[in-house]
Amino acid sequence: MPISVFRGLGSLLNRRIAREKLNVARCIVGSKHRLATVAKESSAPVVSVASEAVKAKFPVGATFSGFRVKEVQDISELYLTAVRLEHISTGADYLHIARDDPTNTFCVGFRTTPMDSTGVPHILEHTVLCGSKKYPCSDPFMKMLNRSLSTFMNAMTGSDFTIYPFSTQHPVDFRNLMSVYLDAVFHPNLNELDFFQEGWRLEHEDVNDKSSPLVFKGVVFNEMKGVFADSQQLFSQKLQNGVLPSHTYGVVYGGDPLCIPELTWDHLRHFHAYHYHPSNARFYTYGDMPLEDHLSFIDENYLSKFTKIDPSTAVPEEPSWVKPREAHIDCGKDPMASPDAQNSIAVSYKLINVINNFENFVLEILGQLLMSGPNAPFYESLLEPQLGSSFSPSSGYDGHTRNTTFTVGLQGVKDADLDKVKAAIENTFERLSETGFPKERIEAVLHSIELSIKHEKSSFGLGLAMSLAPIWNLDSDPVDALKINRNIAQFRECMENNPNFLQEKIKKYFINNTHRYTLTMSPHDNYEVDLQEKENQLLVNKVSSLTEEDKLRIWELGQTLRQKQEDKQDISCLPTLQVSDISRDIIPTLVTDISLIGVPVQVSDQPTNGITYFNAVLDTQYIPEHLQPLVPVLCGVLTRMGAGHLDFRLFDQEVELKTGGLNVNTVITPHPIEGSKYEQGIQISSHCLNHKLQDMFDLWALIFNELRLDDLQRFGTLVKMIATNQANSLVFHGHRYAMTASASTTNPVSALTEKWSGLTSLCYMKELSEMNDLGPVLEQLRELARLLLSKECMRVAINSTPEHHDEVLKSFEGFLNQLGGTPKAQSPFAVVSSDFTPHTCRNHQVFPFPINFASKSYAGVCYAHPDAGALRLLARLMFKFLHKEIREKGGAYGGGAASTPGGAYSFYSYRDPNSTKTLASFDAAIEWVLSGSFNETDVSEAKLGVFQSVDAPVSPGSKGSRRFLSHISDELFTDHRRTILDVQPQDLIRVARTYLRDASVEGGCLIGPKNEDLENDPFWSTVYN
Ligand SMILES: [Zn+2]
Repeated sequence: MPISVFRGLGSLLNRRIAREKLNVARCIVGSKHRLATVAKESSAPVVSVASEAVKAKFPVGATFSGFRVKEVQDISELYLTAVRLEHISTGADYLHIARDDPTNTFCVGFRTTPMDSTGVPHILEHTVLCGSKKYPCSDPFMKMLNRSLSTFMNAMTGSDFTIYPFSTQHPVDFRNLMSVYLDAVFHPNLNELDFFQEGWRLEHEDVNDKSSPLVFKGVVFNEMKGVFADSQQLFSQKLQNGVLPSHTYGVVYGGDPLCIPELTWDHLRHFHAYHYHPSNARFYTYGDMPLEDHLSFIDENYLSKFTKIDPSTAVPEEPSWVKPREAHIDCGKDPMASPDAQNSIAVSYKLINVINNFENFVLEILGQLLMSGPNAPFYESLLEPQLGSSFSPSSGYDGHTRNTTFTVGLQGVKDADLDKVKAAIENTFERLSETGFPKERIEAVLHSIELSIKHEKSSFGLGLAMSLAPIWNLDSDPVDALKINRNIAQFRECMENNPNFLQEKIKKYFINNTHRYTLTMSPHDNYEVDLQEKENQLLVNKVSSLTEEDKLRIWELGQTLRQKQEDKQDISCLPTLQVSDISRDIIPTLVTDISLIGVPVQVSDQPTNGITYFNAVLDTQYIPEHLQPLVPVLCGVLTRMGAGHLDFRLFDQEVELKTGGLNVNTVITPHPIEGSKYEQGIQISSHCLNHKLQDMFDLWALIFNELRLDDLQRFGTLVKMIATNQANSLVFHGHRYAMTASASTTNPVSALTEKWSGLTSLCYMKELSEMNDLGPVLEQLRELARLLLSKECMRVAINSTPEHHDEVLKSFEGFLNQLGGTPKAQSPFAVVSSDFTPHTCRNHQVFPFPINFASKSYAGVCYAHPDAGALRLLARLMFKFLHKEIREKGGAYGGGAASTPGGAYSFYSYRDPNSTKTLASFDAAIEWVLSGSFNETDVSEAKLGVFQSVDAPVSPGSKGSRRFLSHISDELFTDHRRTILDVQPQDLIRVARTYLRDASVEGGCLIGPKNEDLENDPFWSTVYN
């Protein structure tokens, strides 16, 4: 999965980005996207018992299993105790975070510093996961996904590190996974065939036809073609290469598709030998399991077998330039953006050595002040004058390279405006060096840090591992970086002692900094063709140098690899949990239902660290047809236009000062029992410290009563930004768009999802963004807002601490009293309109990508249906087959199936070089199940796999949300869990026949380049975009 590597600890605390859970686990190298946190929740209590025990047991200087304790520190604001140790004989570094959190995390990381663009660290990351000494079966990592109840398993490559993290709540599972991970990294088999499969190889296009031409294949090779097809990622990559060119950041660590074929198997093994060594390793453990057990296991089984080496992986500082530099690159045309405004431009500045923790913290704050929200100076000077459609990729502070960087720029820029952007950036810094920032802005940023410390996240230990990894990797002190309160206090002191503190930073780091790199990128008509031409040329060169002997070997290797992929695997060497480890009962969530002035409210008392969580759904079923397409547009702008006496800037500032953000999104929820009904609406949500509760509700009241939908210029800016973000997401989330589109004709819920957030909505936003006069649209939005924003069709959920219960409800009642409308006593569920008729439809959506996203869908059943569990299990079971066909044999980045109760059963592929072949694999998966080619173990594994998401931990702020948002009671949930646990192999065959093979209706969608096979296929329609 796309990872995003982080920008310093501030990011951990402030940013929320959802990671989806799809069966395309593993890596990638997103260079500078912000970190995705896991969509799972866990709860950690306030006082740490684990910490007390650990302090008593691990005094500084003591030794345990070959480790010496170097440091023990309480970090009270995060309710944790950090223990830093060193492995005496190898020098391996170890950080343990003791915290009363049952969701334990493990991570082992290495500093990986490639000096070429062959993608060696990335290919190595893939290849070590293909089998090891103790676990010789292929891909033990993937196999463990089905033998564990982990809440997270992945591996990721960054520009100078590779990490292998996992999380789980089960002690046995923890030990199992740790064993598989450690064996993978320290004793991998690194077979030549695995290198060919995961990295690159020459192979006959049709592996069984000796006369078919030789082509490049390989998982990483294809993955990186996908990455390079995404102009956003290309731009980020080239920007980092350009501003930090002299050492490891000057190369493409994920691999440039044109350089990957230079990598040899030997080089890969050599790279492993000195990078994946304990002397170059950092171990991290987190949670409430005993540290001494971890230490003895790691030492006894692995570290004691090694002696110290000098890995020579230090990354030097980038030498400073005396003069700024500039460069230009080409990219492909974006069919979703307006044709005359497709340039990107950014200026990137080299800043400090990352080991300076406090300065890193200051720059993180400065980065937010400069870039974040509509009050940010660059928002005002670049986005508001509409010099571009949104910030360029990589914009903001990046605190995870040896020298940190700050980047500011725009995408969607007209040719004529490129120079204006440059001038505007310089002028903005000049102005700020005189004026500094308003006090309220600084307070708002500090408030958001304070709030985010208290806001308990799902996967705290994992988030910490990932945010510390980049700086720890560069020998910055990870324990010191956790002292957020000290940093805040020191920052305040600096500001008090020197009112020009930030102005001076701006002069030093930006105005007087000659180490800055300006990159521009423009679309080129022949970009894709040229790139393909270069690949073809490389292929011709490779092939023409082959001897007959080489060719024979290639043929044989192709056959061996195919054979290996076909072979039935014995995976009995791998440890596993049992289905009996899954409880048949659940711990109920305590909620009460009350009615306040006629509005239904679900209340849950939880240990929320003094934060109140507010959630509401506003029913949209009565909104007239002509306003329906505007519902998502309203969601996109609702909290960003200003309200009452506050213009959008002041409004945003108040939001930042008082809350953790006001969120709005669309919801479409199928009725859990009756297939003919669903709920459609918008969800609004926010959280705040209890003493700011009144302020938070006052802000919502302003939106409901005095929303300012009159500023056309502002509206235009927002529409452009939304359209750009959606268009950018297509190449990244193409499988989701394909799944939604293919499901849209099979069931009503998917049909509406397609309208509100699928390709249809993407095209609609594009149309809006190109309109000359948005006045009439704004008029309609006002009408929609008037109809929707009241307590008439509202239902609410509130989570807060028991001691604040009464006060919170009183405050909320005050809010309701300010709202218009009389609550309607009606069901939130609309009956599916009779004009929806399921029908078969298959569309090929043509986009100029070099890779495809394929999907096929069938109508599913509702949540409470007796077959819902079997269908869910079927999707997981099929993953086994599809992964092999689509990824291992087909070379796609990923592929699988997903079953959404109340929605559809969908197949998908992700970044896929194939199209019709993959569609055929979807059908073959059905046949594979019908022929009974799976066994009891496969079914048990599928059950464990499904329960990873079914039983994912939930944070105190989100407890009860399954009941509130999905209308699934604990009783329904218990029944659903049991239907999954009780599924028998014959049930899987039956549901595959009934709902898939014998389905009367199916949907298909392929997003990808022009495709003659489908053009000539009478069952497919081609849509040019
Ligand atoms: Zn990868």
